[in-house]
Amino acid sequence: MADWNIGVFTSVDAGLGVDLEVAHELGIPTIQIHAPHQGNRTQETADEILSRLAKYDISVTAVFGGFEGESYADIPTVVKTVGLMPIETRDARLTEMKEISDFAKMIGCPVIALHLGFVPHDKQDPGYAEILSVTKELCDYAQNNGQALHLETGQETAPALLDFIADTQRDNLFVNFDPANMILYGAGDPIEAVNLLGDKIRSVHCKDAKWAANPGEEWGEETMLGDGEVGMDQYLLALQSIGYRGPLTIEREIPQEPTRQKEEIGHAVTLLNRLKNEIL
Ligand code: MG
Repeated sequence: MADWNIGVFTSVDAGLGVDLEVAHELGIPTIQIHAPHQGNRTQETADEILSRLAKYDISVTAVFGGFEGESYADIPTVVKTVGLMPIETRDARLTEMKEISDFAKMIGCPVIALHLGFVPHDKQDPGYAEILSVTKELCDYAQNNGQALHLETGQETAPALLDFIADTQRDNLFVNFDPANMILYGAGDPIEAVNLLGDKIRSVHCKDAKWAANPGEEWGEETMLGDGEVGMDQYLLALQSIGYRGPLTIEREIPQEPTRQKEEIGHAVTLLNRLKNEIL
């Protein structure tokens, strides 16, 4: 596969991505896809997706897990609702992630990914050992399906994330780096984070954002690619310097405005192609 293929985050019936049709219309060669709703993670759905991808000549590079009841309304809501951290839903969601791994296998994808949620910063917190154990179990399940697990960045600082990955002692656990999330959550400078995470970064989102007045307490603001404070040229230069050559997957989370979403993704494709030409 070529270096830095353009990608886009897509959805079929769940999640905030664009339809596969939009990827096709914009001539984008790779996608990440949000897992379908529970009940639709079937061979029939997999076959339908595979036939559309074959027709459009698009390859899928990661399947993202997401769950009913998750909300990104504000930071306290993320803590309570997102990923495998909330205790009330943890077992059911771990079971779902295993189903999602099986579904990814059906569509021939070697990567599953998710937001774990807010991992406790204090390693003495009993919640730390619990989420570590859940993550190991999921890594081992993915390993049996020939897959890696990528953790979406945002909730943790880069050093905390590296520490967590080391503590799992699993060699199929990596990072899906999202520079905008570092800003939105106030988790640290995205360019420094790329340099720290280095070869743990195995997939990336191209998304942009502006810092909040009080980072970490309130949300920053997601923007069109190039209009935020990531610095797309610096971002791509940092990715180049760590040797990252995988897809550049555009993510624009405004599914409530599909026309604008498609337009802004088109703009992002143009921007990334220009920067690719300058840098590679
Ligand atoms: Mg993302």
